[in-house]
Order: sequence, then structure tokens, then C-alpha cells
Amino acid sequence: MIDFISREAYNLSIDEIIYSGGIMARSYSNSRIGTFNTCPRQYKFQYIEKAAVEKPVSVEAFLGAAVHHSLEKLYTMKMNGRVQTLEELLASYNEYWEGPDKESIKVTRENLGVEDYIKVGTEALTKYYEKYKPFDDGDTLALEKNISFPLDPAGRFSISGKIDRISIRKDGVVEIVDYKTKAFLPTQQLLNDDEQMGLYQMGVRYLWPDFERIELKQIFLRQGTEMKTVMDEDKLEEIRYRVFQKILEIELAVIEDNFPPRESAICDWCVYFELCPAKRHRLAIEDEIAVEFDAEQGRRLAEEYLVINDEKKKLESKLKALKEDIVRYCTNYDVSNLAAPRGSITISSQETQAFPGKTDDEEAYLEISMYIRNAGLDECFKLDQNILYKDFYVREKLPHDLAEKLSKYLVKKRRDTIRTYYKGQ
Ligand code: SF4
Repeated sequence: MIDFISREAYNLSIDEIIYSGGIMARSYSNSRIGTFNTCPRQYKFQYIEKAAVEKPVSVEAFLGAAVHHSLEKLYTMKMNGRVQTLEELLASYNEYWEGPDKESIKVTRENLGVEDYIKVGTEALTKYYEKYKPFDDGDTLALEKNISFPLDPAGRFSISGKIDRISIRKDGVVEIVDYKTKAFLPTQQLLNDDEQMGLYQMGVRYLWPDFERIELKQIFLRQGTEMKTVMDEDKLEEIRYRVFQKILEIELAVIEDNFPPRESAICDWCVYFELCPAKRHRLAIEDEIAVEFDAEQGRRLAEEYLVINDEKKKLESKLKALKEDIVRYCTNYDVSNLAAPRGSITISSQETQAFPGKTDDEEAYLEISMYIRNAGLDECFKLDQNILYKDFYVREKLPHDLAEKLSKYLVKKRRDTIRTYYKGQ
């Protein structure tokens, strides 16, 4: 059970908190949750520390913004009774690329330049125009619509987001439209389970409870194609629960101040690269950044650890082979103690019977567990504190009074783990 944490602990501005039913709810968005999933440390930089860094706009994000802006303008004009020509649409698109943010665009992929991305957008918009002209497949109800709604019944968390377009078709179905400029299409199965689209539907339901039939549509602009899905109440509840659980994970990370860096290909786009604990030492060693610590000392410590760790592994494998030789020797010659100049070693071998563990034979293990539980032999079960804490306590799956009783036993623990990476292995 996670207690309410103060706004200060999150370093939240008042804009990031909405009032829902008189209760102050912390506001999350799908992209905010996504940032935590991608890299908890990036989440901390962005949402908690609000680290002051230069924030170049990735060319991919800029392309998305330019296309969204152009389509918003197209539909605004349409709502006012005029259909833009393709030339006008492309002119507003090109104008966007010439805007004040132009200088901050960053291209990360090698062999590609801004012009290549502009071309991608031009082709995408042209395909869109040709396919949907004269844009009368429904009446537009809202464009770039900000939504905000309580996620959980108690209103502790709220979800906010922005929907590209909401329209109502002639058959009365409300369409929630999301434009995508990704290079690849998701599978239909993934779309059917898409959290962002599910949250959009919840938001529309919250704002317009009378809308009965809602369809979710993603338009893939590069490919000139669209994909649709419909989510029933069960699916929405499943998504609501999943998102709620993810938010609890983030809340736990805040309590424990546990935001480990998660390195991936995304690092190349990360604006916090030079601040990142996973990158700083390497950058310092390579003289890319100036640091306030002794980088050389860190290099020596790491090298020493790698050498000793390597020797330890070799010795362990040598010891294992030696043990096998000794056991074989003692068995062959029926001796159990071997004398040597430094002392002696005693060997004992015993064959016993045992029930299989979970890793030996999971099916058998589960069957045995069931028999033992049914027989009420509680003493055979060992308490797994990790499962109790992470899966039940944190995820608020325990009865309230039990969670309260357990609270007083919680203690802080520190665990240091070192993972090694050897060049060329
Ligand atoms: S550089 Fe990579 S690991 Fe570091 S914060 Fe950014 S995404 Fe996370």
C-alpha cells in the first residue's frame, strides 16, 4: 500500500496535478508511463529532477509535429466549409519546417538529413490527401483535443492526453483518430490491446458519456493505410488495471528512489546522455565531458575487478573439474581421505531421495504444492518476501488491514550488484 506522497517529493508543478472529485490526483500520460518503461533513469531526469539540458527536437518528433499541425489546419478549414487544395496543405507543412524550432532539430540516424524527413512527410501527406479527399467521411467533433480523466475509482491518479481527431460518422459511430508517422505497422493483435487507444476511449467516454458506439482508428501516414479496433468494457477494464499497476510501479520507484538507467538503442536519442550515470564515466575517459570526479581511479577499479572476476571464474571451473577427478579417484580406490603436504581432504558421497524443485520439474512441483496446500501443511511453505512485497503489497492486492499490519515490518535494504562486460566476448 503506497501512501500519498507530497507534491514536493515529485517536484510537480501545480499544472501537473488535477482535481478530480475534490481529491488531488497525480496526473500521468501514456507517454510519461512509456518513458518509465523505456528507461526509469530518463523518467527521473525528465519528470522528477526536471534536469536543465539543451533539448534538441529529434527530427522524427519534428516530422510528427509538422504532419499533425498540417492535418489539424486541413480539418479546421474543412469545419469552416472550405477544403484546402493539396498545394495549400503542403505549403502549410513546409512552412512548419521553416518555423522557429528549425535550428534545434537533431538528426541521429546516419546517412539521413532533414531533407529526407521532409520528403517522407510530403509523400505521406500527399497519400493522405488523395485517399481521404474531400474529407467528408464524418463530422469533426474535436481536433488536438486535450483529455483528462480519473483512472481509478478513488481518483488518486488521473490520465491526460491529446487526441488528434474525434469525429462522428454518418452511421453514428464516433471515431477516435490517431495519426502515426512510424516506419512500421503494428500487428492487429497489438492494436487490439493498445493502452494508448484504450485510454483515449476512456477519456472520450468520460467527457461524452452519451457516445455509445466508439471505434479506434490509427492512420499510418507513411504507408497510406489505416487500422481499426473496437474495445469492449472488459478490454477497457483490463487496460485500466494494467495502467494502474504500472503507475503503482512508478510510485514505488519514487518512494525507493529507484530509477536505474536502462541502456538501449534509445540512448542515442536521449537528451540526458551526458548526465546519465551509465554514460558519464565512459564519456569522461574519452574526454568528451569534464567531470568533478577522478575518472582514472574509476577506470583502475573497473579493470582490477574484471581481472579478478575473470581469474575467479577460471579457478571455479578448474576447481569443478578437479573435484570430479577426486570423486572418481576415491570411488575407484575406495578411499575417503586424501593426504597432501598442506593437509588433507575428506570426501563423502551420499545418494538421497528428494522431491523435485520448481526448476527441476515445474509440473511435478506444482502438483506436489497443490497436494500439500490441500492437506493444510503450511509449515512446508517458505515465505517469499519478494513476492509478498512486489506482487501483493506494492500492487495493493492485500486486504487493507493486512497491508497495514505488514507496514510496520518494512525495513530499508541495500543491494549492490555488479554486472560485467568483457570486450570481445
Ligand atoms: S542515456 Fe540511455 S540509459 Fe541513460 S537515461 Fe538516457 S535512455 Fe536511460
